[in-house]
Amino acid sequence: MSEKRVFLALGSNLGNREQNLENAISALEREHVRVVKRSSVYETEPQDVADQPWFLNMVAECETRCFPLQLLAVLLRIERDLGRIRSNAKRRGPRVIDLDIVLYGNVVMDTPQLTVPHPRLTERRFVLEPLLEIEPDLKHPETKEPLSRFLRAVSSQKIRKR
Ligand code: AMP
Repeated sequence: MSEKRVFLALGSNLGNREQNLENAISALEREHVRVVKRSSVYETEPQDVADQPWFLNMVAECETRCFPLQLLAVLLRIERDLGRIRSNAKRRGPRVIDLDIVLYGNVVMDTPQLTVPHPRLTERRFVLEPLLEIEPDLKHPETKEPLSRFLRAVSSQKIRKR
């Protein structure tokens, strides 16, 4: 299969957050997910559970030959290797590393394991802003709307470039 262009969102709000992001980037490269561009790192207010430390977030544009579910398996393995403990109680709580597939080429899919584009892409400033920093003209693969159109609605979410 040919290389596909994907955008991944990375986040961390536990431990050495910068180092966790760097470790995830290195791990992606080892798994043949080649990082071709990376956004700035942003410090961002937690969205779903307020009582937790602020996150560092960034977006990476990557090239990979992995199919979508293979790529998800790679991301889950990296999360586990970097020490993320998954439990229902901690869902949406603090995490060493969180890796999400934001866009996978122009693929639109909705399965129990994986939804692409990421279902909350347009609601999250901490994803939209770094994504559009890398590629300002991106469009939603399903609706073809420019993603920049969604920025205004999330402008009250606090984020700052590091
Ligand atoms: P979370 O706890 O928010 O990191 O959720 C991770 C779970 O969401 C994974 O185990 C995936 O099965 C599922 N998921 C669905 N869509 C996506 C996506 N686009 N990127 C990453 N995980 C996804």
